[in-house]
Amino acid sequence: MADARIAVVPGDGIGREVTPAAVRVLDALAPDFAFVEADAGDAVLEATGDPLPEETVETVEGADATLFGAAGESAADVILPLRAAVGSYANVRPARAYPGVDALRPETDLVFVRENTEGVYAGIESEIAPGVTTLTRVVTEAASRRIAEFGFDYAERHGYDVTVAHKANVMRTTDGQFLDAVRAVADERGADHEEALMDALAMHLALSPEAYGVVVCPNLAGDVLSDLAAGLVGGLGLLPSANVGSDNALFEPVHGTAPDIAGEGVANPVAAILSAAMLLEHLDYDDEATRVRAAVEGVLEDGPRTPDLGGDATTEDVTTAVVDRLD
Ligand code: ATP
Ligand code: MG
Repeated sequence: MADARIAVVPGDGIGREVTPAAVRVLDALAPDFAFVEADAGDAVLEATGDPLPEETVETVEGADATLFGAAGESAADVILPLRAAVGSYANVRPARAYPGVDALRPETDLVFVRENTEGVYAGIESEIAPGVTTLTRVVTEAASRRIAEFGFDYAERHGYDVTVAHKANVMRTTDGQFLDAVRAVADERGADHEEALMDALAMHLALSPEAYGVVVCPNLAGDVLSDLAAGLVGGLGLLPSANVGSDNALFEPVHGTAPDIAGEGVANPVAAILSAAMLLEHLDYDDEATRVRAAVEGVLEDGPRTPDLGGDATTEDVTTAVVDRLD
């Protein structure tokens, strides 16, 4: 019996190149994983008329964790239902600069913990009269507490400080509730935290990212601030992410299908491999996750590097180099 069942959904474009690279790394570490591959995205849409076959949803629901690649035009019809299938309430996006990689802010080591079920993305929009539209922002105490708990747990486990981003001076009721929930959780745990207005925080993150660690955010703020941080560390090819639910989770690189380089075998597999490291950690394979990160750091520093990082190595060269450094 395998210790864990991992659904593998490569999708389209470079998802088909970097996801197998991540599986190769997981395989080389040899935890007892059973991989179950499933289709999603434009290719299966063309073949069957459905970008997300029911079997894929069932495979993801039945797995302990999912490794996802990218989906093309059909992305919204694929990734949103898949995130829902794992019951994702926390979107975790580390943004970390690495030695050997050009970064605007080489001292950046941030982790965005974004509430992923409500806020302005709850989708409650209407046109109440011609030319007049409204949006209802939903913030519940339960979801705010849950993301706060997650953020403090993550920070504790990884040794980061916690900052909560908010705009409670303007959105007094909704962000007021979000902030109160974070304060209450901090209080109960006896944990320290800082509070930052999200607009000012955007500037401070750009200027002095080293002053921050875990940033707990409402949905929209997390979306915007984590992209800002991505710009500080030099390259979409490096950024992993996790969508975590209470008993399931999906891991994916932040980048998309990269149609401009798809099929050439030169996509940077690091974002997918670091997503696999997050998967390992989620399943409590902490040592293995650390080994993957150390191997990736070594390869980023010494090469080989793919063209997006100024090198001329292939996806396979970089993956082999990472595998060779696992020890
Ligand atoms: P999609 O609509 O699927 O998101 P996109 O055109 O927005 O496609 P992205 O995947 O978001 O493409 O990538 C944006 C740019 O970054 C592209 O030029 C792409 O080549 C580059 N890029 C993204 N990921 C990688 C990677 N893993 N390796 C190398 N380059 C990458
Ligand atoms: Mg894109």
